[in-house]
Amino acid sequence: MEEFRSFVRSNVCLADYTRLGIGGTVEYFAEPESESQLLLLLDRCRYRNLSVRVIGAGSNVLVPNKGLAGIVISLNKPAFCTIEHNASSREPLITAGAGVKLVQFITEAVTFGLGGVEGLIGIPGTIGGVLCDNAGTSNDNIGQWVESVRVANLDGTISTLSKNEITFGYRSSSLDTGVILSAVFRLELDDVSELSKRMQKFWIVRKSQQPDSGLRLVMAFNSTKTGTSASDLIDQVNLKGTQIGGAVISDHNSNFIIVEPAINGNKNSEQNNSGRDIVNDIKRLIQLVQDRILEKTDVEIEPSLRVW
Ligand SMILES: Cc1cc2nc3c(=O)[nH]c(=O)nc-3n(C[C@H](O)[C@H](O)[C@H](O)COP(=O)(O)OP(=O)(O)OC[C@H]3O[C@@H](n4cnc5c(N)ncnc54)[C@H](O)[C@@H]3O)c2cc1C
Repeated sequence: MEEFRSFVRSNVCLADYTRLGIGGTVEYFAEPESESQLLLLLDRCRYRNLSVRVIGAGSNVLVPNKGLAGIVISLNKPAFCTIEHNASSREPLITAGAGVKLVQFITEAVTFGLGGVEGLIGIPGTIGGVLCDNAGTSNDNIGQWVESVRVANLDGTISTLSKNEITFGYRSSSLDTGVILSAVFRLELDDVSELSKRMQKFWIVRKSQQPDSGLRLVMAFNSTKTGTSASDLIDQVNLKGTQIGGAVISDHNSNFIIVEPAINGNKNSEQNNSGRDIVNDIKRLIQLVQDRILEKTDVEIEPSLRVW
């Protein structure tokens, strides 16, 4: 990887790139500055048979403490973080790079008078991550607004996939095999001030449903196929507030697992949690919830968290 040293580092701690702030190191971590750098890198990874993962905002991944072989790619550089909309066109199309934060995408769309996605405000993540996960609410998901997606394939080629060529499932998509570069969304023309008001209302509701935003946490489970929320099921089997080691089911909303704030009150201090295998605690807590719900209600729930 010597020739890529300007944008590839070795033995990088992934805890710094995840919402949970835990997990081990990865053999190589790449932050390409351009598509051409990314394509050269993918070509080299294929040649060296390195496993390739992509990380967005790290809101939905759990990294093992023992670390990972291969490479993790982050599209956090400006070349992958642009938003474009031709205001003089009457077409409600907007293009966003994979590294753009969902919150920024929605707020900019609203200022352009483009609506539809405002109900997703408050879901953490990047365009690449939310497309891969088809993130959404009980009414809406990001995939339904997609016109096309540009993807760098692991063989170093680029494809533009139209919406008909992509499968968006419940919190999943067929986009999880390559590197999403950008996407075009077809939204709806609407009044800017009406959209802003709607977005603010959605924001207030969502924030009230989530635990304190300063905490290190993840959303643990998907709703069931019949639409029952995971938090209702967890409450039903009396697991709200359950703790295993350093991982706790939130008292505020049981579908969130929180890394226990450090004992001395400094919740950001990794040092206070040193010596604890919180990754394993989270896995055990997830298993406990799944087992208890199956045993008591005969319902199977799936984790939404992606364990790497
Ligand atoms: C407080 C909180 C609230 C949440 N609320 C919701 C909610 O209401 N609804 C919901 O659906 N989810 C919710 N989530 C989960 C999370 O927001 C989503 O899963 C989101 O899609 C994660 O985006 P990310 O950028 O952080 O992706 P990451 O966690 O970094 O990655 C998720 C997946 O996307 C892949 N990926 C990321 N970028 C790319 C790319 N460029 N190309 C290819 N693959 C890529 C990764 O490899 C990984 O498989 C919540 C999470 C938290 C912490």
